[in-house]
Amino acid sequence: MLNIVLFGPPGAGKGTQSTNLIEKYQLVHLSTGDILRSEVANKTSLGLEAKKLMDQGLLVPDDVVIRMIEARVDANRNAKGFIFDGFPRTTKQAEALDELLKKKHTSITMMLALEVDDAELITRLLNRGKDSGRPDDQNKEVISKRIMEYNSKTAPLKNYYTEQGKFHGVKGVGTIEEIFDRLTGVIEMY
Ligand code: ADP
Repeated sequence: MLNIVLFGPPGAGKGTQSTNLIEKYQLVHLSTGDILRSEVANKTSLGLEAKKLMDQGLLVPDDVVIRMIEARVDANRNAKGFIFDGFPRTTKQAEALDELLKKKHTSITMMLALEVDDAELITRLLNRGKDSGRPDDQNKEVISKRIMEYNSKTAPLKNYYTEQGKFHGVKGVGTIEEIFDRLTGVIEMY
């Protein structure tokens, strides 16, 4: 299996690049942000709880997202592989993902990290907020909070995957095609 963790701060372009990667490699896309937003749209009890945190730029509790991912990995037994987008976001989530994949006799192949500086991220997110309708993209304080959450809780995962020899940083600035070529360049090395 080809199991990729697509990593990077909010606004790095994970969603866009995931769409292209799943098409090229026939992978199943699991985006915790998308799954949570659909729970919010459907007004499920999970969605209503999650919304309060998401609107403040805070992370949803680990056990909630871990259960969401487990259910979807289980539901896709015949997948050629997965792209994990926006997950794991904490060390606890990364450990849970390793455990889960081990039970399925597979593992993470690599982490691909899109690298973009903070000023560029804020510009991109505010632009996205104009047409995406995502409430968390429309307010500068919420965006800053998400970047702070990323730096304190998620960025340390770089070490987690570096220690496993799986970390690959990729420059996330340029055209969509240029960035896609950089990502596929790393994947083709495997
Ligand atoms: P972005 O990468 O643009 O911040 P996402 O769509 O990945 O956005 O996530 C939106 C929000 O959903 C996050 O700010 C957070 O509140 C919640 N969320 C998404 N994935 C996770 C996760 N793995 N763990 C905890 N919270 C998450």
